[in-house]
Amino acid sequence: MSGLRVELITIGDELLLGFTIDTNAAHIARTLAEAGVEIVRRTTVGDEADRIASAVREALERTGAVITTGGLGPTSDDLTKPSIAKIFGRKMVLDEEIAAALELRWRARFPGGTFPATNRSQAEIPEGAGILTNRHGSAPGIWLEDEKGQWVAMIPGVPREMRGMLADEVLPRIKPLLGDSASAVISGTLRTTGIAESAVAEILGPNFLGEPGTPLGSLSLAYLPGVAGLDLRVTAKGMARMEAEALVREAMLKLRSRVSAYVYGEGDVDLASVVLDQCRSVRLKLAVAESCTGGLLGERITNIPGSSAVFLGGVIAYHNDVKRDALGVREEDLRRYGAVSEEVSVQMAAGVRARSGADIGIAVTGVAGPGGGTREKPVGLVWIALNVSGSEAKARRFHLPGDRIEIRQRAAQAALEMLRRAFIKG
Ligand code: AMP
Ligand code: MG
Repeated sequence: MSGLRVELITIGDELLLGFTIDTNAAHIARTLAEAGVEIVRRTTVGDEADRIASAVREALERTGAVITTGGLGPTSDDLTKPSIAKIFGRKMVLDEEIAAALELRWRARFPGGTFPATNRSQAEIPEGAGILTNRHGSAPGIWLEDEKGQWVAMIPGVPREMRGMLADEVLPRIKPLLGDSASAVISGTLRTTGIAESAVAEILGPNFLGEPGTPLGSLSLAYLPGVAGLDLRVTAKGMARMEAEALVREAMLKLRSRVSAYVYGEGDVDLASVVLDQCRSVRLKLAVAESCTGGLLGERITNIPGSSAVFLGGVIAYHNDVKRDALGVREEDLRRYGAVSEEVSVQMAAGVRARSGADIGIAVTGVAGPGGGTREKPVGLVWIALNVSGSEAKARRFHLPGDRIEIRQRAAQAALEMLRRAFIKG
């Protein structure tokens, strides 16, 4: 590994109380690992000057390299800068240039108002510190370094500001410290859906990538199940970047060849965008009819930029009357088979396709729970139907695990996957 070991300190009472999930720590760890920097310890402290100071002091003693997030704002709970300035024996001084920029920014947002004095405090910086420009917010970040080369980078807590500043300001300062020995942590992710973790484990068996001691065997393989399906992540570390990248590529091909039917993409690709690409390439328009997902499927699709080229719209047919009136589902079938049934799902898909003029209609109807389940129709039972012009309507029954939220999310994902496979089978 590289010689550069960094500690991370995230600051905020809301993190300790669990009201805010520490996503900053995860993002920073991933970003630095990719650049070949090892995060060796993570600490979270509340908004208290003494706690911040002692956490930073201890971390500096261990590594001499610390990144903090949070506590840079203008309010009384923002104590990061003065606490850390003290450790370095620096005074806080007002930076007139930053103060003027803050005032300008404030006046643009609140024309005619009086610039509050508390906002000026954001322009106070430790003497001799470097400024990390914030392109996404007002609070600047701080780079503080002593004559021995020990440093602390203070960046904001707001995730979007933190991400921008890490990439634009912090990484360029860290990279030169890495030296030649830098090795990177390289990962590749294969995204699968529609197959259980245990089934994949069965297919792959132990030491799938390679026996211990072989180059491929030195990679780690993680099974990461979630509502979108199972991600398989391969990671190489402790070797040169080129070698790591080549091994990860080889491992990904090997994995893909074994579970190809279930793979919808790599990295952080969204199944909705895969399906939209398929529809676009054959110029087919799409419409949805949703009961238990209540619009979630439409949301997944319209989240993707450019979806308007493919997606016409949909109907949230929650009540049976809407299934009947807006989609043309037969009243007697609703009574006879119930809203969660193959017959109704098929009629919903046909109805939305015909009424919207789309080429493809997808329908979802199910029991999301927690109430409403019966012996024949338990919570998690979902029917998904696909109606593609020119081919026979298809419906599939799913029994999805999880609570209400998970069942709805899994149902939307299953609907997208059913469509993806329809394209593959032609
Ligand atoms: P601060 O910079 O401490 O004023 O935080 C500003 C906002 O960023 C607050 O709404 C926090 O909840 C959020 N935030 C702070 N630290 C983190 C973190 N480590 N992860 C995710 N969000 C955070
Ligand atoms: Mg805070």
